[in-house]
Amino acid sequence: MRRTDIHSITFTARCESGLHIGGSQDELKIGGSDNPVIKNPASDKPYIPGSSLKGKIRAELERQLGKFGREGRNQHQPCGCAETDCPVCRVFGAHMNTSSELGPSRIIVRDGKLVEGGRIENKTENIINRQQGGAEHPRSNERVVEGSEFSMQIVLQVYDLDEGFEYAPYRGGEAQRGGAALQAVVADGLRMVGMTGLGGGTSRGSGAVSFHDFELDGEPWTHW
Ligand SMILES: [Zn+2]
Repeated sequence: MRRTDIHSITFTARCESGLHIGGSQDELKIGGSDNPVIKNPASDKPYIPGSSLKGKIRAELERQLGKFGREGRNQHQPCGCAETDCPVCRVFGAHMNTSSELGPSRIIVRDGKLVEGGRIENKTENIINRQQGGAEHPRSNERVVEGSEFSMQIVLQVYDLDEGFEYAPYRGGEAQRGGAALQAVVADGLRMVGMTGLGGGTSRGSGAVSFHDFELDGEPWTHW
């Protein structure tokens, strides 16, 4: 197995609503939010953990491709089918499947650094008691305000194993092959995250994000 290519995909993630990616409860401050957002401990500025974006891209692709893996007690387990035509296992690695001959994860998702905005707001949510109709236990959630922007990077590694891999973009268009197919998988995953959102509370209006200014190795990214 040999790596044949390595690319840097860079882009901007913009918050189209407040964004809540949870931080550590250990940092809970007196009088602070019940539910803080993750912040860089050195600068106290919010960031987007690469692991959050990577996990969301993976989960969206699994939904789209019908690649739900084993169901845990409460939680959906990532795909570990290790089939050579599985775009999820190829790009992300086969979950809990060490005998996989698909090779390592093809992408590295870097933490997204705040480049614009970044003010923190507190959004209070009531939990409605459905029997009595009253609101109870109000919780405050920190959110990074709408309009904030983060600079993102995904490193994509292509291996000789990928030569025969094919992927047809979900919106149609020609099937792609090899390294181009890997790029098309990442682009599709990002498009889906752009529709469903990132972080917590997406079903209650948080986490809408849009992606802009894509470049592949410093040139406009044709797969976007
Ligand atoms: Zn799979």
